Formats: sequence, C-alpha cells, structure tokens
Amino acid sequence: MTDYEELLEKNMPAWPYPVNYGKENEVSADILIVGGGIAGCHAAINAAKRGMKVAVVDKAPIVRSGSGGAGVDHWHCVNPYSTTTVEDSVKHVPPYSMGHLRYIIQKESWKALLDIEKMGVKIRDEDDEFVGAPFRDEETKFLFAYDYNRKDVFRILGADIKPAMYKELKRLGVELYERIMCTSLLNEEGKQGSRIVGATGMNIRTGEFYIFKAKATLLSTAQPLKIWVFNTELAGAHTAHDDPNLAGDGNAMGWLAGAELAMMERSQQSSGPFRYPAYGTGNMSNTWFPCSIVDADGKEIPYVDREGNIIETVEERSLRGGAGGPGGPGVGLIRDLPERIEKGEYKLPFYADLPGMPEDERRAIFGLMVGHEGKTRIPVYETYTQNGFDPDKDMLQANVLPPKLAGKSGPWWDHKSNLHSAPQWRDTAFNWGGGLLVGWDMKSNLEGLFAAGNQTAGGGGHAGAAGVGRYVGRILAAYASEASDPVVERKQVEDEKERVYAPVGREGNIGWKELQAGLCRIMQDYCGEYRSEEVLKAGLWYLQSIKEGEASCTYIRNPHELARYLECMVRLTVSEIMMHASIARKASSKPLDFKRLDCSDVDQEEWTKFVTVKMEDDEVKVGEKPIDFWLQEPYAPSYEENFKNYDQE
Ligand SMILES: Cc1cc2nc3c(=O)[nH]c(=O)nc-3n(C[C@H](O)[C@H](O)[C@H](O)COP(=O)(O)OP(=O)(O)OC[C@H]3O[C@@H](n4cnc5c(N)ncnc54)[C@H](O)[C@@H]3O)c2cc1C
Repeated sequence: MTDYEELLEKNMPAWPYPVNYGKENEVSADILIVGGGIAGCHAAINAAKRGMKVAVVDKAPIVRSGSGGAGVDHWHCVNPYSTTTVEDSVKHVPPYSMGHLRYIIQKESWKALLDIEKMGVKIRDEDDEFVGAPFRDEETKFLFAYDYNRKDVFRILGADIKPAMYKELKRLGVELYERIMCTSLLNEEGKQGSRIVGATGMNIRTGEFYIFKAKATLLSTAQPLKIWVFNTELAGAHTAHDDPNLAGDGNAMGWLAGAELAMMERSQQSSGPFRYPAYGTGNMSNTWFPCSIVDADGKEIPYVDREGNIIETVEERSLRGGAGGPGGPGVGLIRDLPERIEKGEYKLPFYADLPGMPEDERRAIFGLMVGHEGKTRIPVYETYTQNGFDPDKDMLQANVLPPKLAGKSGPWWDHKSNLHSAPQWRDTAFNWGGGLLVGWDMKSNLEGLFAAGNQTAGGGGHAGAAGVGRYVGRILAAYASEASDPVVERKQVEDEKERVYAPVGREGNIGWKELQAGLCRIMQDYCGEYRSEEVLKAGLWYLQSIKEGEASCTYIRNPHELARYLECMVRLTVSEIMMHASIARKASSKPLDFKRLDCSDVDQEEWTKFVTVKMEDDEVKVGEKPIDFWLQEPYAPSYEENFKNYDQE
C-alpha cells in the first residue's frame, strides 16, 4: 500500500450500513420486474391493475432511477390530433428498425401519455403560459414540437414523471425492492436455455442476497453503457445520455441464461464523458429545435427544408416537415455549411440566438424544454440562469468543431455531430440499439422471460418504453395467470452466491475502476470503429485473460464496491457478446455504423438481415432472422392482425 492509500484508508469513514454478505432473503411474486425504469414501471402498473402480485427490483431508488428519472420533455406518438397514422409509423422507418415494436409503441404511447396525466404529470399548458403560440392547440392546451402540422411530438412538463409513477406503484400495492442489483436469472432445473423462474440479487448497501421467484419475469434494465469509455472523475460534468447505473445487466443476465440477442454489433461514435452537458451548449437540434444559429459576426445561418429550399421565417421551420421524421434529413441548417465555413462565408464560433427568436419559441426552448428535459433542469437551466444567463438578452455559444469533423455525420448541427470526438470512442446506439430479441408478445426465446424498453433489440425512447411497458404489463398478467409455480434449483443459487461474493475478503491489488478502465481499453483497441475477425478474436482472448487474471485479484471494501465490481463483470460479458456478434456479421453496414475491414463491401443484399447470438450448453450459437421477421412465420402477414392476436386488452 502506498502512503497515499494508507492515508485514505485511515481517514475513510466507516461504512454506514450493517453488512451481511450472503444473508438470504426470499421473495415470491406472480411477476418479477427487473429494472424499475420507464418500461418497468408502466409494465408493473398495468400488471398490478389486473390483480397480479408484482415485485419490482431496482439497483437504485425507483423514485428517480433510470434514464427517465431526471425527466422527459418530448413525447413522440401518433395521437388523435396528429396527421400521421400508426400505419405510417412502420412505412418509412430506417433500416434495422424492429417494425413490430414501432407499431406497438405507436398503438400504446398515446394511452400511456394519458395514463401519466392521470398520475398527476402536466402534459398540457394548464397555466396558459403559451396562449397564442403557434405550437399550442388552444382547445386542448397541448403543446407540440418539431412539426406543428404533423403534431406527433408533444412538449410535456415531465421533470417529475418518475415520482408520479412511484406514487402509483405504491397505490397499487406493487412490492418495491430498491438498491438491489439483480445479478443472474434462474432457470428451471438450473439449465441454461430452460424456463426462467426468477432472479438473484444483492443489496448494494448491506450486501444481503435475494432470491426472487416468479411465474413470469420482465427484463427492463435498458442498454449497456461505458463499454468503450469510462471515467468516474468526469461523471459530474458529463450529463451525457443515460443513467450511469446502466451497465447492460439484463443483456449479460439474459445471455448467460440462454436468451437470444440481436444487433449487438451495432454502436455509434461518441465522446463519452468528454462532451459538454447534453443540450447545454448552443444548439438547434432536439430540445433546441428550431433555434436560430448565428456566426461569430452575428450572421444568421439559413434553415432549409427537406429538399434544400431556404426557409424564411422561424415559424416555417416547424411547418415544413420538422426535424427528422420519416424518409429524409428533415428541416435543418444548410447542408453545405462545412464547405461554406471553409470558404470563409461563416465564421466560427457559432451561437444559439435565443434573443432573436419570437418570445414564445424562446420560452419553449429555454424554459419549458430545457427545464424538463432529463438532466438539464439543474446543470443547465438552473445553473445558467442563477449565474446570470438571460435568454432574453444572451446568446449561448455552440461547440467549436472543425468544419470537416462537424460535417462528417450528415446535416451539420445534428445530434450526432454534436457528440463528435476521437473516432475510436464509441457508445451503444442512443436509440434502437442491440438487446434481447422479442416477438409480438415481447417474449424472448426463453419461456417465462420477457423484455421491454431499451433492453430489447430495437427499443428506443421514453414514449417507446412507456408504450411497450403498458402493453407488456397486460401480456405478463395473462401469461402468469396460466403459468405453473416456479421451482428454483438450489445448486444454481449456490453457484451464483459463490460468484457474487468471490471478491469479499480477498487480498487483491486492483480496484474496480482500474479493472473497468482495462476492459474499456480492450474494447477501444479490439472492437472499435474498424473491426476484423482476427482482431476481434484477439479481443476475446484478452477479455478471457482479464477474467482469469485481473478480475480475480480485484479487491472490494464494501457492498457498493462489490456492486461496481459486479458491473465490471457485466460489461466484460457484454463486451464478449459484442465481439461474438461482430465476428458473426461478415459484412460492413452503414445503418449499423459497422465497419469490417476484412469484408468491406458495404450493405450487400444477402447481409440485410439480423444476426442473432445466444449461448447453448455454454457454447456461442449464431443465427439470423429476416429483416421483417415480425411479418413472417409464425406471425400473421399484417401488423394489424398480429397486434389483435397478441394484445391482451
Ligand atoms: C438526458 C436524457 C434526456 C432524454 N430525453 C428524452 C425525451 O425527451 N424523450 C424521449 O422519448 N426519450 C428521452 N430520453 C430517453 C429515455 O429516457 C429512455 O429511452 C428511457 O428512459 C428508456 O426506458 P427504459 O425503461 O428502457 O430504461 P430506464 O428508464 O433507463 O430504466 C432502466 C432501469 O433499470 C435499472 N437497472 C439497471 N441494472 C439493474 C440491475 N442489475 N438490477 C436491477 N435494476 C437495474 C436502472 O436502475 C433503471 O431504473 C432521454 C434520456 C436522457 C438520458
């Protein structure tokens, strides 16, 4: 131990909770929800309304846990006022979208929005703050975003959505097990690939062990994060997307239990913890749409519509197709902006010209939206205004990006280019990324195991997680009411206890942060932007070597550190899955942002399919699914019929 470590050790306060490593607690329920985020809470509420005994387990306090814990401002759904239909939502979707999930989401998210209104969340301009604004419907007081004609994205006051759902869970008598990290799924007879009969967990304060038994289990622990970049020191400054608790636990648990996963080779460029707080710099995308952007001399950068025609007024930006949407780049800044910057027509840095916006649009962006978007209320809205930022007078500087880099990923000032940094740093796709493969019934390939939200391959967004959660709640209730009682195999529990508590009392010389940093380095080097079979196989070798080497001499000093160590093991498993999936896809693909140097022909027709991976008898099995498998055997040929067949309303 160095002098510094000794000093730390001596001055460290005692662990404030009683520690009982290994002490067992048993819980039985009809339905077990692993992950009480947006999807998990909606599912639990809807299953409990059907008289089921529901237990929700979360690694964090459910009142604020998950990526939706800090709020939501956009709610995207087809609704009675929108010009789009549910059918439209599956017609023009990007490649590798899961059509059945998109359809279910659009069928359910409007109802989920009305549900949360009943729970006390303000989804309308009840205080008449925006009377007369072009984005307000005067009769219903709904506020819309992006495209004021299409009306398929609501602006809502969702900062306190999780506390409202938490109250509803309590009202319905749902059993809540908080600060308990689920560590594994339990299979019938302890056999990989057989029915799921529950899960194990560990209390991250006391170290106690939990055995959950259930007739049906929902995995809703969202997507893996910090797989390529990890830095706890920057965690406070970086309000980048998503909850830092998310390690990909459900993917790892599912994989080891025999569940099939898809799109695990997909990733995207990212600057991880090195970016600015999300929506905290001058911007014109997402929450900041349709803000005016000016250059260093105050010269406004024109907006263009889908066809590239200049848009003259601020209001028109939200009436000519909005930002994004199906079938094209949507409204944005002029597309050849990088070249114009290079020619000297516009000068960096740029600024978001809030004072130059009409007053209602200005207040909608810096007030309603930045005040309610997840994670922006305190670091951006409150911090900036308390320190003198006045949107009526002040412009907010945008990130300074070299024009070439800035223009790299499509329309210049878009969501992705804002995140640019060193190219080897990657992240799981923000939306519609990899995860458990589910069908119309949201069931995995394993009996008794369902998935929802960002846990699924192709899940995405808050409204999406809410809609799918609402739908799967009904399915879980129907399934559990017919399922037999779960029987847990004691040997599987014993093996898991041995694995979980392995570092307790160990004289190790590696801390969990070093272990995690090492794992990220392997992913940067061996599963980065450019991949090849040989390099990926070397990466798998290194992961195995870390498992047997560094991971087996990692020390922990309390249950918190034990949980962080277990998260490292989750990320190690997720990294393995990603490498196996990357080896299996032997073709490059633009939509998946997947580059194979040893098979570089991009988007060959025969590779337009989903690659699936799972474990069978502890061996990796690769499979595939047609790109529209949800309309093929064993499903019906139309969306509508499938929805009717599987919906349990
Ligand atoms: C800053 C920010 C702003 C956003 N704004 C919007 C928006 O305006 N509109 C929109 O549509 N989407 C938005 N999103 C995305 C949206 O929040 C997510 O898509 C949504 O929360 C996904 O829901 P989920 O249920 O899949 O996961 P989450 O809500 O993240 O829930 C996952 C839960 O699993 C728990 N968990 C993880 N591991 C374990 C384990 N081992 N055991 C037990 N529990 C576990 C976590 O603690 C968490 O509670 C935003 C996200 C962020 C971060």
